[in-house]
Order: sequence, then C-alpha cells, then structure tokens
Amino acid sequence: MFRLDGKVALVTGGSRGIGRACCEALAEHGATVIVNYVKGEAAAREVCDAITAAGGKAEIAGFDVADSKAAEAAIDELAKKHGRLDILVANAGIAIDGLLLRMKDEDVSRLFDVNVRGALACARAATRPMMKARTGRIIFLSSVVGEMGNVGQTAYAATKAAIVGAAKSIAREFASRNVTVNAVAPGFIDTDMTHGMTDAMKEQLVKVIPLGRTGSAKEVAAACVYLASDEAAYVTGQVLRVNGGMYV
Ligand code: NAP
Repeated sequence: MFRLDGKVALVTGGSRGIGRACCEALAEHGATVIVNYVKGEAAAREVCDAITAAGGKAEIAGFDVADSKAAEAAIDELAKKHGRLDILVANAGIAIDGLLLRMKDEDVSRLFDVNVRGALACARAATRPMMKARTGRIIFLSSVVGEMGNVGQTAYAATKAAIVGAAKSIAREFASRNVTVNAVAPGFIDTDMTHGMTDAMKEQLVKVIPLGRTGSAKEVAAACVYLASDEAAYVTGQVLRVNGGMYV
C-alpha cells in the first residue's frame, strides 16, 4: 500500500520540520524526492544524505518560493530534467505572530508572499507537467489555526485559510486532468516553528488537545504520503486534519 515507486516528488521547505519528514517518508515509499530550501542548504544536503543512506533517491533544489518567477523557472527545469513531476508538497511556510493592533503591513505582506503567493506559484508550475501526464498530486500545508483562529496569529491564520480556498478551487479546475489537490491541516507540531513557545504556553495548549500531546512531523508526513498515493485517487478538494482532535 501507498507505494510511490517511479514517481518524482518536490517538497518545498524540505530542509526542516514537517517538510523534512515528508521528504523522508515519500522517499521511503519509493519516490525520488527533490528537497527544496531557501537558506538551509546544509540542512537540505543532510536530508538528501539521510535518504540516500537509507537506499532512497533525493536531490536538493534551492529557491525562494516567494520569488515566483525563480520558483516557476526552477520547477520547469526540474520537471524537464526528470521528464515528469508527479507530486508537489507545497509545505514551505513562515509564521510571524502578533496581535492585530500591533500587526505590521510588511509582516502581513511577507506572510502572504511566502505562504500563499509562493505556494500558488509552485502549484501553477507543477500543474504543467501534471496536465501533460494527465495525473498528479498537489498537497498544500494549511493549519488548524486557519480553521479555528488563534490569538496573536490573525495574519498567519488568514494565509492558512486562504490555502484551503485555493486547494478547493484548484481541485475543481484540474479534476478533469486527473490531478488531485488537497490540504493537510496540522495541529501543533513539534518543529522549529513552534520551538519559540514557552513551557507554560505548551502546557496550556496540550490541555485543549483531546489526544493530550503535540504531534510529530512524521505524523503529518504520513497523511501526505497517503494523499500522494494511488490509494487516494478519489480524494480531492479535501482538508485532512492531523491535529489530535484539537479541531473536529
Ligand atoms: P519550519 O520547521 O519552520 O520549516 C520551514 C521550512 O520552510 C524550512 O525548510 C524553510 O527552509 C522553508 N522555507 C521558509 N521560507 C521559504 C521560502 N521563502 N522558500 C522556500 N522555502 C522556505 O516549519 P514547519 O513547522 O515544518 O512547517 C511547515 C509547514 O507546515 C508550514 O507551511 C507551516 O505553516 C505548516 N504548519 C506547521 C505547524 C506546526 O505546528 N509546526 C502547524 C500547522 C501548519 P530553510 O531551512 O531554507 O529556511
């Protein structure tokens, strides 16, 4: 089940956290994985080395998803080089937190540039080889806060809600080409993004998670592998929540 042999997958922001776990899980299931990063070249190389050491296939590709022209050119080039692009995990994302009254316009712009405009540019480029092949899988990373909101995360939550609307629309646009498009909405996952939280904040948080713990990047990656697989061929336009029951 869930084998991805012969498929080529691009994971944006694959150098750390959830992206890294996705790269490793996709490779473990047989896909050739392209590990994207923007700053962390050494970390991306490490992901590649770990995959290769485990018998998988991987390579790195550095580009800033927010630079849509560069991102699209890089994806076109990668698809040409491999002769295909079967899976895009549009995972690259940033969080800039702050209360609405203190929110800066430049922070809102940056959040939308990376989390929304960047993800959509990558999806636009990925659909080209997928349309030709008449098959493909696009998986966006949303968030529990995009659906339930969170104090201090107005702009970030807005980007993650936007991604759900985009995923549903692209799903409708590309269904006739057999390209499925879904979003995974993680709850609170232990990565660099959440390392800034104090122990007291984490304790409060865990109280509202029915499963009583934060999640792991591997648990999110497992959902991505499922959505990327042939077994998920009839699943499109959906939001798969991996949140310990925090939002149901
Ligand atoms: P993370 O540990 O902070 O890692 C972020 C990744 O995104 C890194 O690989 C980083 O690359 C890459 N990245 C950032 N900006 C980029 C850009 N402009 N172009 C290309 N790559 C870029 O984050 P994470 O926690 O794994 O989160 C991954 C995704 O899941 C995000 O979309 C996030 O919003 C979402 N999410 C996370 C949580 C959570 O609790 N952690 C919950 C819900 C949703 P470099 O290493 O090169 O900087």
